[in-house]
Amino acid sequence: MALKIALWLLVVLASLHSTSSLGSDRHLKEIVLGRCWDFQRQKVYAVNAKNCSQLWETFSKAFAYKDPCATNFSDYEPFFDEVGMDIVKMNKSLFWSGTYKEAHMYSDFDFRLTTLEDTMAGWMMNNLTWCGSQNKSSDGINYTSCPSCDDWPFWGLASKRFAEKANGIVRVLVNGSRSINGTPAAYSKKSFFGRLELPNLNKSKVIKLLILVVHNIGGPVLEVCGNGSIKEMENDAKKRGIQTTCHDNPAEIQHLLCADFPNSRECQFLASGARNATKSVSCGLLTY
Ligand code: NAD
Repeated sequence: MALKIALWLLVVLASLHSTSSLGSDRHLKEIVLGRCWDFQRQKVYAVNAKNCSQLWETFSKAFAYKDPCATNFSDYEPFFDEVGMDIVKMNKSLFWSGTYKEAHMYSDFDFRLTTLEDTMAGWMMNNLTWCGSQNKSSDGINYTSCPSCDDWPFWGLASKRFAEKANGIVRVLVNGSRSINGTPAAYSKKSFFGRLELPNLNKSKVIKLLILVVHNIGGPVLEVCGNGSIKEMENDAKKRGIQTTCHDNPAEIQHLLCADFPNSRECQFLASGARNATKSVSCGLLTY
């Protein structure tokens, strides 16, 4: 009996191990196809329907059968040409750095604002893992292991194209509680935002960059508008001819964050001074 239980445990552990592989996601193709059709189903403006099977072919050609760390922007250009990035509406672009959860809570899948992950290309691939296998007898995708490479060309090119399309008032949401290797880093020149988004904003199309700084509820306040790396970001934007204004803990975002932590010190305005706290929100999004 004990031997039977031990064997059963071994089988269960072996199957758990094989499903938590660090390679490409299982059923990658089906997931991408499903997301592609579903994105178009949900978006009424997707009148020129894309052929999702064709998009998958173009996407997989970028990396299948290739050395995972040898793909570059040019491999993914055909995919981005085909999917397009033309849906980003004026005054709607939201960039983020160190604020994945907060930014998506705020954008609400394009309802308030549009993050890269709310566009078709970003939506289809968000949180997925994929890499090529050079094994000729496979489908060219490695489902067992994907190395961590220096570069992430899919997201690099996605970031660049998303930034090039931004127009009107654009926003970036950064985390004033973030530190990298012990140094406050709300803004990092090495981040995707610092390397590929801010440098690719088109100054003739962008009216202003609104810098929105949030702090983790219960976390440290390491940086606020006007100091440290946030000042550096303002200077980098100005050097490119882009005006900025900066806002610490804007009420419209703080209220969303406080939904999860209503009893925290930072959220006490909900109990005591909700009327005063909401005065600055007026109606609609912060635009100044
Ligand atoms: P971030 O620092 O929060 O990093 C976002 C992701 O990119 C994290 O998984 C991080 O580990 C990875 N990353 C960051 N810098 C890296 C580097 N130098 N090398 C390898 N991986 C790195 O924020 P960020 O770097 O500013 O990127 C967010 C911005 O770029 C957003 O505005 C978004 O439009 C875009 N982006 C999105 C994704 C995504 O997975 N959805 C990934 C990269 C970039």
